[in-house]
Amino acid sequence: IKTIGVLTSGGDAPGMNAAIRAIVRTAINSGMKVKGIQRGYAGLLENEIIDMDTKSVSEIMRRGGTILFTARCKEFETPEGQAKGAQILRDNGIEGLIVIGGDGSFKGAQKLAGLGINTIGIPGTIDLDIACTDYTIGFDTAVNTAVAAIDKIKDTSMSHERCSIVEVMGRNAGYIALWCEIANGADGILIPEKGDFNEQDLIDTILSNRQKGKTHHIVINAEGIGHSNRLAKRIEVATGIETRATILGHIQRGGVPTAKDRVYASTMGAYAVDLLKQGATNRVIAYKNGNFIDFDIDEALSMTKGIDEYQFLISRLMVMY
Ligand code: ATP
Repeated sequence: IKTIGVLTSGGDAPGMNAAIRAIVRTAINSGMKVKGIQRGYAGLLENEIIDMDTKSVSEIMRRGGTILFTARCKEFETPEGQAKGAQILRDNGIEGLIVIGGDGSFKGAQKLAGLGINTIGIPGTIDLDIACTDYTIGFDTAVNTAVAAIDKIKDTSMSHERCSIVEVMGRNAGYIALWCEIANGADGILIPEKGDFNEQDLIDTILSNRQKGKTHHIVINAEGIGHSNRLAKRIEVATGIETRATILGHIQRGGVPTAKDRVYASTMGAYAVDLLKQGATNRVIAYKNGNFIDFDIDEALSMTKGIDEYQFLISRLMVMY
């Protein structure tokens, strides 16, 4: 394989740049050429393809976001779009493609593999919602950002003796919320995986904690549950405690990647290049039980995972004041 391509797709995640850097440098040092496809599959269909050299990835590791830009592209979900994408890759001499993104992006890679382009997926999303892996690029940075923000909210919540509802990201997954609940300490948590949540229990916990002398309260609400402002109003009415909602939003997607995100993303990038060198295709890289491994994309997409029940249990045991 002489020339490979790399693109980032779906939501951006801090650490994607470290993966791009590792791909470019390890491939070039193995004698391959690397082309960067800008704006994901949307840019592919517009032939937005640039040559990358070792210097083009200098000083990007400590930057959040993705230097290749990212996008979503409806046209690429059609067989015509996929055929056009495969042809554009061939016209540019690209025989292997590394796709950094989430499950949707892997489906695109799977389609290209079926059209004769060797593809490797790297899990990149702050949400950690990719079933085949215990780690996704950006989760660690996003959680650290959310934890630091909640610490700040706690300062003001304590001063005013308030209750704060903090909504964190995670799409339909509650991983960021669960980590924040344990890392920050909270009176309660609402996550999609535990949809049978009883609001009265939360109200009772807040009231009981207040009676025992607690002067402020934090409730972590996952994006997949949402409606934080309405929840704040209901809690204020039920408890008589002034309650405010804060939606952390896109602050969680940006920022300087943590050491873990830089190192794991770099490892996954180098691993992806290795797989392409070996002639592999339709694979996705995963981190499981302390090892970097790879799965067939079809198999990876058929997997499911939930939250860690033990982690959830210990988070519950710590809410009582
Ligand atoms: P994130 O979790 O950050 O949203 P994602 O990769 O799951 O990442 P999606 O918006 O689902 O994000 O997918 C990104 C892009 O992948 C889509 O805009 C589309 O171009 C492509 N894609 C998604 N599903 C398919 C599919 N079934 N076939 C081909 N391409 C697809």
